[in-house]
Amino acid sequence: MASLLPILLAASSAFAADQGMQVYFKGTTTARRIVVPALSRPGDVIHDTGPSMPLPAAFDSILFHGRTQAGVGFEARAGLGAAWGPWVGPEIETFSNGRFWGKFRLAGTAGTSVHLRLVNRGVPPSRVIDIFEIEAFLRAREPVVVTPSRVDLSTRPGKPDVETRQEWNAAPPKYDYTLTTPSRITIHNTAGAQPETLEDARSEMRLIQRYHQAGRGWNDIGYHFLIDGAGRLFQGRPENVVGAHVLSHNTGNIGISFMGNYHPPINDQPSPAQLKAAVELIRWLDEAYGIAPETLVGHRDLGKTDCPGDNIYSRLPDLRKAAAEPVPPPGPTAPELPGAPARVRRFDFARPFTGW
Ligand SMILES: [Zn+2]
Repeated sequence: MASLLPILLAASSAFAADQGMQVYFKGTTTARRIVVPALSRPGDVIHDTGPSMPLPAAFDSILFHGRTQAGVGFEARAGLGAAWGPWVGPEIETFSNGRFWGKFRLAGTAGTSVHLRLVNRGVPPSRVIDIFEIEAFLRAREPVVVTPSRVDLSTRPGKPDVETRQEWNAAPPKYDYTLTTPSRITIHNTAGAQPETLEDARSEMRLIQRYHQAGRGWNDIGYHFLIDGAGRLFQGRPENVVGAHVLSHNTGNIGISFMGNYHPPINDQPSPAQLKAAVELIRWLDEAYGIAPETLVGHRDLGKTDCPGDNIYSRLPDLRKAAAEPVPPPGPTAPELPGAPARVRRFDFARPFTGW
């Protein structure tokens, strides 16, 4: 039995500080946009995922989040081979921006499939219901990582405005953070909503924090910075503590997450204001911590995930390029020579980067 030990250790550490296992169904990605049929009546099944692909490791809960759930009953069951357990309902928490997340207390071993369905409990016809993510999760406390040193330059001048945790009414972390020095950047998407108003964005922040703390069991929201649809920056974890956003790559890694779902079938697009805010933040992180913008990566570069979604991933070259552009120092500039107009380079986020 000794030979099994490394496998068990690998399986248990795999979920300590990453997303869970995304649940895939035949022919579809996890996310889905469901329109309630016009003739649907209470008691009818609105949507049936069919059995998922078998999950690669053990889990003790199924987490999901989406938008618009009033009048919809969610049910799930787990099955191994031909043996299916009973349908069960989730715990659901709702937020003022129309978002919800839920958790089914369903457990299974590697090879288990899950099956979800949505039942009409009085939802109006034609209502649109988004399910952004469905993941199988094994709860685990975040590992304590010993780091030799840390540097906190979070109040260094020139930093873009960042909405504080107090402003978005964050809950405190559940236990002490592990300190670290920022040394690299990973770009994510929240795979959720892309809020435009400050009120909706604050609500989204609280949902993500609850999903990470109460759903995944983490210490705090996993990312360090988040960007709403209007280009506002929000503080997740303090930047000088270890986050929970990339499996096995969290030490020194600043997680910047675009609020929204940038992958089929939802397909949000990053707004110019979002991209501009990201550039200003990345540029400042370079000034403060010496993190070269050219080295930033997307989550999918480090692990098996769709994150940050095709529509963000395709813009990473733009972000690297724009953030690496030198900013002219303030003050008087040298007079222009006649006939030699200054070369003004201004990044246009409405178009993909094709060279200066
Ligand atoms: Zn990610």
